[in-house]
Amino acid sequence: MSKEIVVIGSGLAGMSCAAYLGKAGHRVTVIEKNFTYGGRLQTVSEQGFTFDSGPSWYWMPDIFDSFFADFDKKTNDYYDLTRIDPGYRVYFGEQDHFDLVENLDELKRNFSKLEQGGGKALQRYLDDAGEKYEVAVKKFMYKPSLSPLEYIHFDLIKRLGRLNLFRPISRHIRQHFDNQKIIQMLEFPSLLLGAKPSETPALYSIMNYADIVLGTWYPSGGIRSVANAIYEVAKSQGVNFSFNQPVNKISINTNKATEVVTNKSSYHADIVVANADYNHVEQTMLPKFYRNYSKSYWEKRTMSPSALLFYVALNKKLDISHHTLFFDSDFNKHAKEIYDGPKWPSEPLFYTSCASKTDPKVAPDNGEALFILIPVAPNLVDNEQTRKSYFQQVISRMELLINQDIKDHIVFSKSYAHRDFISDYNSFQGNAYGLANTLFQTAFLKPKIKNNKINNLYYTGQLTVPGPGMPPALVSGKIVADQIDIEIK
Ligand SMILES: Cc1cc2nc3c(=O)[nH]c(=O)nc-3n(C[C@H](O)[C@H](O)[C@H](O)COP(=O)(O)OP(=O)(O)OC[C@H]3O[C@@H](n4cnc5c(N)ncnc54)[C@H](O)[C@@H]3O)c2cc1C
Repeated sequence: MSKEIVVIGSGLAGMSCAAYLGKAGHRVTVIEKNFTYGGRLQTVSEQGFTFDSGPSWYWMPDIFDSFFADFDKKTNDYYDLTRIDPGYRVYFGEQDHFDLVENLDELKRNFSKLEQGGGKALQRYLDDAGEKYEVAVKKFMYKPSLSPLEYIHFDLIKRLGRLNLFRPISRHIRQHFDNQKIIQMLEFPSLLLGAKPSETPALYSIMNYADIVLGTWYPSGGIRSVANAIYEVAKSQGVNFSFNQPVNKISINTNKATEVVTNKSSYHADIVVANADYNHVEQTMLPKFYRNYSKSYWEKRTMSPSALLFYVALNKKLDISHHTLFFDSDFNKHAKEIYDGPKWPSEPLFYTSCASKTDPKVAPDNGEALFILIPVAPNLVDNEQTRKSYFQQVISRMELLINQDIKDHIVFSKSYAHRDFISDYNSFQGNAYGLANTLFQTAFLKPKIKNNKINNLYYTGQLTVPGPGMPPALVSGKIVADQIDIEIK
């Protein structure tokens, strides 16, 4: 039953899928357009500074552990994890910040200082989120979502009503809390997941559970270590990789994909798995008749935000947490500028990661490697001047809020936004992390993992189930490999 399988793209989902397929005894080749594996998990290195260019939050360590366990490995065979404490600091204004500390009793006491009974409310909220996490991870996350019937399951239906998974998370949070700061802190992962809290189902309070209870972690060597680890696992299962080869065509013969054609070569395939951006694969590699979704389908989707990123090398130490959220401006206004009337935001919220606080190797002594992320609408015109003006704005706000000089200590800075996402990853509208997790883009309502007409073409990655993020990307690879296994038997 051994098949020749070609995977297009070496993001986490593509490599995860390839590893499982290799383990099942197939001959697997991953073809990647860029010079190296890892998709959005790259680094920017210069003058002794190293920045992870994409993800910075290592959440849901259980999902990574279970991936490695499937290959009889442990996470610490590849990298060590350090829990970051506080998980993050949130600035609401000058001299006004809150730390999400690891110790739950202390955190509850601090919630009670913000709101009477806040500590008890937090415990109730987390108990509920913990149950949702169990339902989501054990019952939802690993489903191929080819049909809604997969979700009809007695235990699940029994719990669905009680858990109110589908009401808006904004309402769910407000049923537990009144304090605006608490509400903003609990709503922030929704924005990170790419949707307005009023449109994100309460199911995603699992992210609050992941963040507060399971913790925020840092892998030794940085997030790039995760890509290195998955690559090593795939190689250990006999997977071959070809780099610097953009795929431009999937050849089809009577409803079967037969060949994957790149700029340099062509590869015979019994089965093809596309990990590259779903829209890009369908619009550029397949004739119209064979596409699952039309151009207008994609144009009507709610994409997650894109991101304007800055990698800033500093020649001084900052008194700052590893992860910091700057919530000194209007959250709702910023969300509207992303989703309702997409435009460059007037005064955006932003986020910084200063990995050199945990990992001295990523910056010279007395220096810091500072990463800044501003969530912005996808599909905006992105130019140098716009980037520069946001850089000045956020650095000035940061200086004020943390009360430290930054401007005069910049060794160099680099920026990254829409046009880079498009040229590096063929990302639809320059999105950073796929589709927004709105109710109507969840589970079986997401783009399908299988082509409707080509019966040996599958899709994996952040634009299909289970969704955006590193843990879902690993799971997406497994779902597709399992589905192939079922279908070829
Ligand atoms: C700025 C940013 C911050 C993020 N923060 C976090 C975070 O903190 N925590 C978290 O868990 N997740 C985070 N994410 C999300 C996470 O990185 C992604 O959801 C995940 O890495 C997606 O993996 P993927 O395999 O689906 O796609 P990708 O990583 O996009 O991989 C697809 C691959 O296909 C390749 N490809 C494209 N076109 C072609 C072609 N024609 N031929 C061959 N190959 C092609 C691409 O080069 C790429 O290597 C973040 C993402 C970004 C961008």
